[in-house]
Amino acid sequence: MAAKSYLDLKKEVWDTGRCSGCGACVAVCPADSIRFSEGEMGTAPKSNGYCKQASDAVPCGACYGACPRVGEQPSETIGTYLRLASAKAVRDIPHRQSGGAVTAILAHALDAGLIDAVVTVTHDPWTKKPSSVVITRSDVLVQQAGSRYSWWVPLLASLKEAVIRRKFQRIAVVGVPCVVQAVARIRASDNDLLQPFAKAIRLVFGLFCTETFDYSALVNGKIRDQYHIEPYEIRKMDVKGKLEITKQDGNTVIVPLSELDACIRSGCHYCTDLTSVYADISAGAVGSPAGSTTLVIRTATGNGFVESAQRNNQVTLAETVDTAAIEKLALAKIKRNSKK
Ligand SMILES: Cc1cc2nc3c(=O)[nH]c(=O)nc-3n(C[C@H](O)[C@H](O)[C@H](O)COP(=O)(O)OP(=O)(O)OC[C@H]3O[C@@H](n4cnc5c(N)ncnc54)[C@H](O)[C@@H]3O)c2cc1C
Ligand code: SF4
Ligand code: SF4
Repeated sequence: MAAKSYLDLKKEVWDTGRCSGCGACVAVCPADSIRFSEGEMGTAPKSNGYCKQASDAVPCGACYGACPRVGEQPSETIGTYLRLASAKAVRDIPHRQSGGAVTAILAHALDAGLIDAVVTVTHDPWTKKPSSVVITRSDVLVQQAGSRYSWWVPLLASLKEAVIRRKFQRIAVVGVPCVVQAVARIRASDNDLLQPFAKAIRLVFGLFCTETFDYSALVNGKIRDQYHIEPYEIRKMDVKGKLEITKQDGNTVIVPLSELDACIRSGCHYCTDLTSVYADISAGAVGSPAGSTTLVIRTATGNGFVESAQRNNQVTLAETVDTAAIEKLALAKIKRNSKK
């Protein structure tokens, strides 16, 4: 039977509103035929109409093979792990979101030559517009710490640049659970076209995620038009039962989550994974005291990266994670989204 093509992906995922926007299909399409249009809230990618499989009957199926919205969705809360820890970066990371552990572990890995590049998300300091990026220097990574919590970007689109154009062989991907799920599908696939990506990804760092918001709807719509805050006035945003905006002048503005329903990407309503259950290491705020990062260390690879950072005095770990708090948030997400 022929492999499934973008036409199947379109029917099952793009046209049903299930697309998470992870960007995996954009990254792996060997014909470069799939793209996201700028600024279209809630949309899926588009094809330019050419497809190796559908147009020329050349075996492909790469996009379908990488998509996290195809098949069974995760139903675990914390998932399997080797150990849990509340972690803090030792070095000063001014823009860190929680304890800065994600940045500390990855910056150490870059400095120690354990990886050559990190695929992650950054944003423009003036517009706060997010973009996916390939970072190769620890000082740049430290500058880019903090969560682009509240706006979405097809992160894995940059994987193509890292693997195909720049030929990196030891890449760390930092992503929300849908991104992690896409990488897990790529790693598990026997499709030859996905092998270069699978081989080049050495570490997957998953962030906890309840939902993401569309940049235009949130920053230009809600925050600028209704709360009269310009993007450049925002120092930090955090979602903890409400959206908390810290302005550059130190003042804080609270936006109730009930006002933000229309800004949530439609694909997030189909997402059942809070904790990135398929990552090597997962990281979140819930479960640890303020100023620390909860680490769920799941695989021997992940453990090796954490131990190396610990041995080199880059991160401190305490065994004090509140698993009940994580379970509660994760179960609420599963209940909310699994019936769809
Ligand atoms: C959209 C989103 C939703 C989240 N929701 C929750 C939640 O509901 N509950 C919870 O406990 N934690 C949540 N988190 C995780 C939390 O905000 C922190 O990222 C986590 O605690 C790690 O903190 P840290 O200080 O160690 O990370 P830092 O040291 O600050 O490093 C964060 C790293 O993540 C990268 N990054 C930032 N934004 C993104 C993005 N959108 N996609 C991929 N990489 C990114 C940065 O480039 C940086 O490398 C969410 C994160 C995001 C991005
Ligand atoms: S979920 Fe990801 S891989 Fe699937 S269609 Fe959307 S962007 Fe492409
Ligand atoms: S809620 Fe799920 S689909 Fe939405 S950004 Fe987070 S991980 Fe992706």
